[in-house]
Amino acid sequence: MATDLDGTLVGDAEALQELLSFYSEQAYDVALVYVTGRHLRSALSLAERENLPVPDVLITDVGAEIHIGSDLEKDLRWDEMMTEGWQPEAVSRLAEAAEGLTLQEIPTRCRLSYHADGPETAGRFEQSLKDSGIPHTFVFSSGRDVDVLPAAAGKGRALSYVFDKFGVRDARILIAGDSGNDRDMLELGHPAVIVGNAHPELRRTEALPHVFRASRRCAGGIREAWEHFFS
Ligand SMILES: [Mg+2]
Repeated sequence: MATDLDGTLVGDAEALQELLSFYSEQAYDVALVYVTGRHLRSALSLAERENLPVPDVLITDVGAEIHIGSDLEKDLRWDEMMTEGWQPEAVSRLAEAAEGLTLQEIPTRCRLSYHADGPETAGRFEQSLKDSGIPHTFVFSSGRDVDVLPAAAGKGRALSYVFDKFGVRDARILIAGDSGNDRDMLELGHPAVIVGNAHPELRRTEALPHVFRASRRCAGGIREAWEHFFS
């Protein structure tokens, strides 16, 4: 099960407990992959605060970093791929010239993150990046979060890389999310769920046969989808 954290796995403590005990009752093991926009330290403090199970893989920074196993070893091959063509200074200069963007201080160099004062600001910045020809991935989420990532990054690409790395092909897979930065991983083609509390930017996504729209919030929606696809 590959899931976003804020607003997806996390957000309804009771439903989370229900989901975890449902998994523990199954005859099979459920491997956990967390795929978050948070940076590593922030993800770990959330996991501690919410008492989340230790994941098998932790993808942070909207897919710009991958950490493997309980000792969270950084995937160095992925890291290398993230430096290719990445020009953070050039992105910064464009952001400074744009109006309505505030830089978020994040302790990593493989990603630049901003708060936009609205979708129009984000759209203008997206266009100026496109026009500049700087290789990048642009992600707009939660109505205000703008992430500019290396061209090869993104939650969907990082998750595909993890599936390939571990040779996951015939396992049952469920992918869960609630906002715009989850879109690319929800559209990979595996069974996926948009939880009931999803942001409008994700609700407006066109209907896809493998994407289930849950009525329950957060982990409750994951449980609902699991039963929809797998029981
Ligand atoms: Mg989220």
